Amino acid sequence: MRHDVFHALKSRDVLALWEAGASSSPDRVMDMLLNVVLPDGSAQWIDEASVGQKNVVLLRLCRKWFGSELSACVECSSCREKLETSVQIDNILAVAEDELPEVYTLGDGAQMRFPRYQDMKNTDAFLEKGDAVISLLRSCLVEGEVMDDAELLNYQREVEGVIEKYDPLSLISLELQCNACDTHFESVLDIAFFLLRNFTILGQRMLCDVHVLALHYGWREDEILNMPEVRRRSYMRLIEG
Ligand SMILES: [Zn+2]
Repeated sequence: MRHDVFHALKSRDVLALWEAGASSSPDRVMDMLLNVVLPDGSAQWIDEASVGQKNVVLLRLCRKWFGSELSACVECSSCREKLETSVQIDNILAVAEDELPEVYTLGDGAQMRFPRYQDMKNTDAFLEKGDAVISLLRSCLVEGEVMDDAELLNYQREVEGVIEKYDPLSLISLELQCNACDTHFESVLDIAFFLLRNFTILGQRMLCDVHVLALHYGWREDEILNMPEVRRRSYMRLIEG
């Protein structure tokens, strides 16, 4: 299913996302977001989509609301210098796959599905850290005779190859060069975290608008939030002079 037409996001939705971000993980907040903006009947897709498929939709949403250029501040892996970087979202999306098989079969007959957001406590599994890899492999195993962790780890390279080929945006990595020490390094882009940060900024600005307009004109919160954003911002500019 190709998801590139979205329902509009109301001011109240943005505030709800911002509030949820204070107590829920970014991927949970992104599921809330997808429930609002995707066509009715997408609930099953939201539950079952792979990490890469969801990242594709989140990148499209990011492009729609926050522009085609994605800016981020990253830390050099060597000297810890903070670097400002930007990337065109279309360049990331160029390798996107909208469709991928529900399951795939490994050389020895084991059947696997692609990782989903809920399979991952964090990105440690993709970064090959500790038990996270085993946990991820086990949750993606649909059918197969796997007895112990060591046996499961034998699948790792083959699984990574399949994911890289069919679900390349499951891990969005940016290739960077440090201005200070010239080190080339890769940085993982967490698009859910990036979107949540932007919604937090938007939500805080909306709350500030409500506060100022309510004090100035005596309007209720729902009146202010139901107002088109252009009009709300225009009133704010009048007050700010
Ligand atoms: Zn450096």
